[in-house]
Amino acid sequence: MFFKRFTVVLMVVLLAALTVNARQIDVSRMTEDQIVAYAKRIHEKALTLDTHVDIPGGSYATPARDPGSEDYRAKCTLPKMEKGGLDGVFLAVFVGQGALDEEGYRNAYESAMGKFDAVHRLTGFMYPERCELAVTPDEVERIAKTGKRVIMIGIENGYPIGMDLSNVEWFYKLGTRYITLSHSGHSQICDSSGPREPLHNGMSEFGKQVVAEMNRLGIMADVSHIAEKSYWDLIEITKAPIIASHSGCRALTDVGRNLTDDQLRALAKNGGVIQIVALADYLRKVTPGRDEAIEALNAEFNLPAGRAARRALQELTEEKLAEYNAKMEEINEKYPEIPTDVKVYVDHIDHAVEVTGINHVGIGTDFDGGGGVPGFNDHSEALNVTVELVRRGYSEEDIIKIWGGNLLRVWREVEKVAAELQKGDKN
Ligand SMILES: [Zn+2]
Repeated sequence: MFFKRFTVVLMVVLLAALTVNARQIDVSRMTEDQIVAYAKRIHEKALTLDTHVDIPGGSYATPARDPGSEDYRAKCTLPKMEKGGLDGVFLAVFVGQGALDEEGYRNAYESAMGKFDAVHRLTGFMYPERCELAVTPDEVERIAKTGKRVIMIGIENGYPIGMDLSNVEWFYKLGTRYITLSHSGHSQICDSSGPREPLHNGMSEFGKQVVAEMNRLGIMADVSHIAEKSYWDLIEITKAPIIASHSGCRALTDVGRNLTDDQLRALAKNGGVIQIVALADYLRKVTPGRDEAIEALNAEFNLPAGRAARRALQELTEEKLAEYNAKMEEINEKYPEIPTDVKVYVDHIDHAVEVTGINHVGIGTDFDGGGGVPGFNDHSEALNVTVELVRRGYSEEDIIKIWGGNLLRVWREVEKVAAELQKGDKN
């Protein structure tokens, strides 16, 4: 009896030591099975949130596109979330950028309404026993504890606000808790990182009013997609922490959509969070010289630049194609292709943590909007990210922060700022 009790006490002490000193766990001594078992325990304990998932238009949450069905071929479905231990997602009310005129705003507004309806249909009518809409961090925690999936709403692209500031409060009432200020074209709010030529040279005057209104209401401002100048304008005017709901690190993958190290440092200072995107084009790493060698080869065969070359290959004669393939093999040998998988995904987490510290990094996949890499290609594979984080020596506390703790902290701060601003308004 005594020994039994002693063993239990010893195990508790050991476990406590593991928890407290988790960073010191030497994973190199653990077997693969032990790593996975340890990761599973952390994964179950963590509140796991994904801040960016796309949904199709008004047909989402209908029998034709049923998020509760095993047969629905999307990366984010209730069964996949349940299987992968993914507690909650922000579904994006996405509206592509169109003309900045009355008709454009009207169409964008209607398109947004269709998506709001779809999300409300999912949580309110289709699967109220399996998921629930959350509009505060407290609700997120409460719903997750019941075992239901947590559904939250972000608007991707402030375009449907049009020029009517009162729409911001209306969207808030419909459940919106973040707004991505633009998509890949310039919005009425700010310049996007997409086009080469600026429109407003950063944020527009109206855009600054939109952000003030978002600060007042408690809607997080999302910088994914916006131009760098817009970013710096926003950092200057916002009274609350900001988020990047689905972005990568520019230092690793040089696309305008990703954040530079300077931007990351400013994000940390602002108290915000970058949620790392799982879209291969924003994560890919290239062996130096590889892209240039392929472009030179394409030019040699009179093929168009970039991705169009692949299709143009079909036009080559059999003999020319064999010659092309042989030369491509040489390139592959000299400049090997680096597969963009869950390891490369976690490289971006690593880099962001290195620049900002552990408190400003999270996860925002862009599933069903282009996101997904081998190993983390839908929500049923969410555990693989945790396993990779464990393998790299992240502690339980770190992983809990990355999987949702940081995002909830930012959200709570945004709520607090809103409450203070509203109190100030009343005085
Ligand atoms: Zn996006």
